[in-house]
This record gives sequence, structure tokens and C-alpha cells, in this order.
Amino acid sequence: MRNLITGIVIKIKNLLELQKEGLYIEHERMRCSSPCPKCGEKINGGFIKLLKPSSINSSRQQILIDYITFHYMEKHEIYPKGLWASNVKLEDLISTNEKKNPRDQLSKAELQSQKKEFSLEELNKKINEMINE
Ligand SMILES: [Zn+2]
Repeated sequence: MRNLITGIVIKIKNLLELQKEGLYIEHERMRCSSPCPKCGEKINGGFIKLLKPSSINSSRQQILIDYITFHYMEKHEIYPKGLWASNVKLEDLISTNEKKNPRDQLSKAELQSQKKEFSLEELNKKINEMINE
């Protein structure tokens, strides 16, 4: 479990430093930050986005990891339940949905079903897929 967390942190840090063609990392910082409950370090409320645009061989893929989640993984070797990495932010789905024609809008439950949260194993697998494809 810990090795898996450490491995994922190393892969993400490598991507942050080295960059890889066709794979983008965006920092979505927020104005707010709050202290880590474990160590008190101030952590930005935003998230890191790993993005692989769609290509002939694959559809668009993305992983969103909150800074607090990454901090937990990096500093405390914890993958916090309830703060798992995911493919989308529910708030984004909701705001996109609200801009649609009312008859095309989806219910909250339908939007929620579009959000996929990654277990540690799934996160590792997904990152590997994105790196190696
Ligand atoms: Zn901490």
C-alpha cells in the first residue's frame, strides 16, 4: 500500500519535472488554502490535472488530484478516503449542465454517475496507461 502510494507520487513528480509529449499537467490553483489536519502545512484548495487529449487511438483522459490529496500521499503516505483522485469535478459537470438547453439537462444523479473516483490501484493503473500509451 505504502509502496504503491510512493510509486504514484514519484510518477507524478517525474511528470511535473520532465514533462512528456502528449501528456499535460495543469495546476488549477484556488484562492483559498487550508491547513493540513495532520501537520498544519497550508495547502491550496485547488488540484492538479493530468490530461491526455483524445487521439486516433484513444479518447480524452484526465485525472484530477486535489493538492491536499497529493500532500497526504507525499508527506503522510496516506490515500485519504473521500478525497480520492477522480476523472471530473462534479461542480464542473453541474455548471456545464446548467448552460445546456433545459430539455438536454441531466439530473444530479446522472451527473454524479459520470464522475469516477479512482481507488489507489485504479489510479496507479490509469497513470501507467496515460504514461505508456
Ligand atoms: Zn500534512
